[in-house]
Amino acid sequence: MSHETRMKALVKTAKGKGLVELRSVPVPEIGPGDVLIEVKAAGICGTDLHIVHDAFPYWPPVILGHEFAGTIAAKGRDVQGWEVGDRVVGEPHTLACGRCWLCRTGNRQICPSKRSPGWGIDGCFAKYMRFPEPGLLHRIPEDMPFEEAAFVEPAANVVRDVLERGRVETADTVVVVGPGPIGLMAAMAAKAGGAARVGVAGTNADEGLRLSLARSTAAVDDVWNVQKEDVPAAVEALTGGRGADLVVEASGSEGGIGLAARLVRKMGRVAAIGLTGRPDVRIPYDALMSKAADWIFNMSTSYTSWDRAIHLVHTRRIDVRPLMTHVGGLERWAEFFAALEDKKGIKGIFVP
Ligand SMILES: [Zn+2]
Ligand SMILES: [Zn+2]
Repeated sequence: MSHETRMKALVKTAKGKGLVELRSVPVPEIGPGDVLIEVKAAGICGTDLHIVHDAFPYWPPVILGHEFAGTIAAKGRDVQGWEVGDRVVGEPHTLACGRCWLCRTGNRQICPSKRSPGWGIDGCFAKYMRFPEPGLLHRIPEDMPFEEAAFVEPAANVVRDVLERGRVETADTVVVVGPGPIGLMAAMAAKAGGAARVGVAGTNADEGLRLSLARSTAAVDDVWNVQKEDVPAAVEALTGGRGADLVVEASGSEGGIGLAARLVRKMGRVAAIGLTGRPDVRIPYDALMSKAADWIFNMSTSYTSWDRAIHLVHTRRIDVRPLMTHVGGLERWAEFFAALEDKKGIKGIFVP
């Protein structure tokens, strides 16, 4: 148990744009069914930035952050199967009801009652976090650095969307549209899942950092700038005119969505990751119908995707080290958030 009584935490203080500050708050108290996590590393997600801009649901005042790795610092008297000192990451599906048809069919990650750390309950941008459902934790290996383990949550999303639902098959040609942290991890997951050839497409705005990182990623065979190259022609040439078996749409842009529709082969799959932030987006409906393609929408993670993600990050088949462009204390939050918004960083990790 900690002896500190107060801690610094990055708090969204009220509804509205901005309204984020580093505050001194009490170390959380835990109830009989809770554990207290000492946060060793916490990843900054696009969701955190959306909350800053008031573009994602949240219940203020709330400590931001849902991508964490840490140790159990204390446990309630009813908690079984976990000990103080255990090294853990955790699924953010807290406060799912357990009674609705989604929960009862194994889909608690999209239960309407779910309130995750970082927006629904206090999150991990602090030294300590109360975690009310120890059943959602996963152990991580002793030799897995916490900074890398903090990527397990986004990696689990990628595994869920690309491998489990997008169904990468042996020798597939996979194209990832959008070279952000999710897109680059998707490319590595696709190769680990058996793809023969993996391409990544981005725009001029990605040219400085993201596309050069894609070019230096071992899992990536081809890198294209859609504003300089004819990507559909390149993919046709690679596949004998067939098209990509699987396209991962990780840009959330209308242009990226249109490109994904053009690149996918007949009877192929498009795995969509991430939101567009707009009410409507144009899609070439009839062209997709003619291809009899599957467009797979995705939201959140499954239990199995966490075990797979821990393995892939631990073995560095999803090698997250080059993605960590900003690592430091919570007091640098404004600098880190600005760099990520301006695409001057790939992924920020707080070490509280
Ligand atoms: Zn996230
Ligand atoms: Zn439910």
